[in-house]
Amino acid sequence: MGRTGRHGGTQGSEAGEKWEAFEVVAIDAKTVTLRPVLGGSSGYSESLNGVISDINSAMERYKRITGPAELEGQGVYVEAGMLKPDFRGSANIRAKFYEGDYAANIEKLRNDAKPKALAHPSFSAGKPVGGPWGSDAWLCPGFAPNNRPAHIVEKAGQVDHKMSVAEHWNDHGGNNTSQEKRREFNTDPNNLQILCEQCNQSKGSMGSDGTRATFKDSVGDNFTGPDGNR
Ligand SMILES: [Zn+2]
Repeated sequence: MGRTGRHGGTQGSEAGEKWEAFEVVAIDAKTVTLRPVLGGSSGYSESLNGVISDINSAMERYKRITGPAELEGQGVYVEAGMLKPDFRGSANIRAKFYEGDYAANIEKLRNDAKPKALAHPSFSAGKPVGGPWGSDAWLCPGFAPNNRPAHIVEKAGQVDHKMSVAEHWNDHGGNNTSQEKRREFNTDPNNLQILCEQCNQSKGSMGSDGTRATFKDSVGDNFTGPDGNR
């Protein structure tokens, strides 16, 4: 008996193509009975002529394959160990593979940074433009690779990952783990800090060592994306 790949129904969508391997378990003049190779449903019958004409005309619902191995390289997000082009790059990887509202921590982070402003040696000197610091003052830790030391600010600030998302993806297994593990990283309070807007923008996509990182296109064998898809 042969095998067939059956389309998972997401073709053309943002998620990309998804094929499933089916085994032909019975065939007669009118019907072909298919069963998923990886288990799940018990199988079903289709019109033989329908399947044949679909395969011959490349209708894109069925295609002939040698076995599940042939489909392994055709994931939703990954093809042959590389992200498909639509999912590459900083913006796509952050949006698709790093879930979790880490910025929701901003109020707590700012409150935690207020006592640090009070304790800072420059607090008693007051604002650079004159006058005392207000009760909203908090200590921005600065960004060492840009030679910005800690300083007191009163503006809103932005939430920053101490270990950057790019570092996590490239060098700390982010591209070789599950969506849930990346969410844990993305929202881990111990890896978040509040920076003033100026420091956060000058840090940009730099890693904590000051080097600018680009996101790798490759993923490891253990990578899975949203809904456990690969
Ligand atoms: Zn700052």
